[in-house]
Amino acid sequence: MQALTFGITDEQRTIQETTTRMLRPFEARRQEFERALREHGRVPEEFWTALAEAGLLGAFVPEEFGGTAMGLSALATAADAMASRGFGHPLFLLTGMDALCIARSGSASLQRRFLPRIASGALKLCFAITEANAGTNSFRMTTRAVRRGDSYVLDGEKTFITGMDQADYVLLVARSRSREEIERGGLPKTSCLSVFVVDCHTPGISLTPLPMRAIDGAAQWTVHFDGAEVPAENLVGEEHAGALAMFNTLNPERVLIAAGACGQTERLLEMSIAYASQRVVFGSRPIGAYQAVQHPLADLRIRLEAARAVTMKAAAAFDAGVDPSEAGTYANMAKYLATDLAIDAADRAIQTHGGSGFSEDVGVIGYWERTRLMRTAPISKEMILNFVGEHVLGLPRSY
Ligand SMILES: Cc1cc2nc3c(=O)[nH]c(=O)nc-3n(C[C@H](O)[C@H](O)[C@H](O)COP(=O)(O)OP(=O)(O)OC[C@H]3O[C@@H](n4cnc5c(N)ncnc54)[C@H](O)[C@@H]3O)c2cc1C
Repeated sequence: MQALTFGITDEQRTIQETTTRMLRPFEARRQEFERALREHGRVPEEFWTALAEAGLLGAFVPEEFGGTAMGLSALATAADAMASRGFGHPLFLLTGMDALCIARSGSASLQRRFLPRIASGALKLCFAITEANAGTNSFRMTTRAVRRGDSYVLDGEKTFITGMDQADYVLLVARSRSREEIERGGLPKTSCLSVFVVDCHTPGISLTPLPMRAIDGAAQWTVHFDGAEVPAENLVGEEHAGALAMFNTLNPERVLIAAGACGQTERLLEMSIAYASQRVVFGSRPIGAYQAVQHPLADLRIRLEAARAVTMKAAAAFDAGVDPSEAGTYANMAKYLATDLAIDAADRAIQTHGGSGFSEDVGVIGYWERTRLMRTAPISKEMILNFVGEHVLGLPRSY
């Protein structure tokens, strides 16, 4: 186990520089990029290629499979830097966490088949766990994976699945034994889930679009599995032990969301400061001189420093291999602090911009939905408070 250190490391500074360099051509064509995103509902493909070339898609992929193995601290630094410049890709985080799951829990053959193509940018992946009748309580899921010969047959339905139409593969969590069998056998509720890498174009998979907002560049879908077959070799880790494989990826996901939220706060602050410094409505002083405008921005800046520190602590804990429950505590705390901060930053940016804060052209209003989503998904604020109440404070569980 390595010691945790404070402050930005040389490696992180290099990652910031690499990310900034990677974004330069897109910044030069920002309007064109944003128009393409609005018109096609997808991030332009060159952006994915640029992420791969910068080594960011291979951050969790070992070097022997063509990855950079740079780890979570480096990737969180990149996610923060990208969001600070107003860029991102909805499948970036999903593909990254799926790669991590395969790298940590997948068989040698699964790693050989998928990791090089993930690192090179040849594949996009999405993630499917949520079901309408289970929601936050994933252990109520009913989607079945039943072994038949060399395959598993999938039946059931997942919902709110982001980017299923764009992805090549979906990392699917399904039930390999029914809940009744688990109850009869007195097995723990965490048992008998299995994780698969499933080709999105498998016969027996169909999609229904959902009228959702909040994520730029990827739609959400209900995904139906009607006798779709996945080769048994695409099982990630042991059969029935998928909960562990899945949980191994949730903490890094929270850290990356926190890092992105810090970056979004930085961006919103920059936009607010720029506007407040030049907008004059009374006398000759810009509105940024009024403390009613200035103090909320100063408050954001202070809280950003704190949220970044906890986010980097959470990333460092993961990279150092500390006990997952301790790493999970920091990851949850980082996600809690940073996402609430980003929501406040969006609110204050709109208020600072006055009426023009509602104009699509100014680019602030979109953050209202984008940041608000993070209080609900992928883990809600309430569930983080439940986690801290139970696991950190030692208080009884209410549900
Ligand atoms: C835009 C978007 C994209 C998404 N993308 C994906 C994806 O790609 N893949 C995927 O698998 N899922 C995805 N999701 C699903 C998301 O992770 C779920 O919406 C989320 O986990 C909550 O489940 P639910 O919506 O069923 O809420 P519910 O479980 O019905 O919860 C409703 C409310 O009750 C609260 N609540 C529930 N239980 C408790 C409790 N014990 N204590 C306190 N409060 C509680 C919750 O915090 C929440 O506020 C996405 C969702 C959205 C909105």
